[in-house]
Amino acid sequence: MKRYFTFGLCSICLLLSTGCATFEQGGGFLGGINLLSTSEEVQLGQRFATEVEKQETVHPDAALQAYVRDIGARLAGAAPRQDITYTFTVIDAPDTINAFALPGGYTYYYTGLMQLCESEAELAAVMAHEIAHVAARHHGEMMTRQLGMELISDIIVGEKQSRAAAIVTQLFSTGVAARYSRVQEREADHLGMDILYRAGYQPEAMITFMQKLLAYDQQRGGGRGLPIFATHPTPEERVQLLQSLMQQYSPEMRQQRQIGADRYQAQVLSKLP
Ligand SMILES: [Zn+2]
Repeated sequence: MKRYFTFGLCSICLLLSTGCATFEQGGGFLGGINLLSTSEEVQLGQRFATEVEKQETVHPDAALQAYVRDIGARLAGAAPRQDITYTFTVIDAPDTINAFALPGGYTYYYTGLMQLCESEAELAAVMAHEIAHVAARHHGEMMTRQLGMELISDIIVGEKQSRAAAIVTQLFSTGVAARYSRVQEREADHLGMDILYRAGYQPEAMITFMQKLLAYDQQRGGGRGLPIFATHPTPEERVQLLQSLMQQYSPEMRQQRQIGADRYQAQVLSKLP
């Protein structure tokens, strides 16, 4: 049984929002407060990454990791933010449909999600969306809002590693992360499609992957019990948004971009159970 679905719910961060600081302004966070410098964001991300890699199983296949890293490097090269190092790690968990980005550019992809993809372009679509959250500096806004600067500072200096561990544990046990705002999700879809396209992949892949998630839910009774379906915008709204975004690229230009189904079969699907 698949654990949880989180394309678009991809944040590890914000679970223990127990009433720390709130910095909401006007209900939106676009251009909102980001109190984290890049170096603070990277240090905070490192603390969480340490916990993620303790609590989850990094996939042992070096060739598989390298393949995903190469796709990531290609996408990251097309990202507008270049002051951090993006990293890409496969977690061995065939029952988990999940992907997320930590602050500072650490991103993770579960084998359960990778098995749902049918091409390199579809995995790249998920990766581009995660990169976009980092590139648009969504974590700084979200984490200062959810955790508060005091706790963030304590985690960064290493005084609250147990708290960082608890935040990660809670994410994995409940699958319910606090969310990016609606505006941030739209921005990640918009920027993610641009990254995907400029890296040479067909932007349609972002839509076909969302449709696969919806079909997967249908097969399971359409219960919408999984976290992705609790987010806003809804998957249907996101498919609509993505379809309208795709119109900015001509059909001829899209056709020239890659899908990479055979390569994905050989490098990923043939290796997974
Ligand atoms: Zn997202």
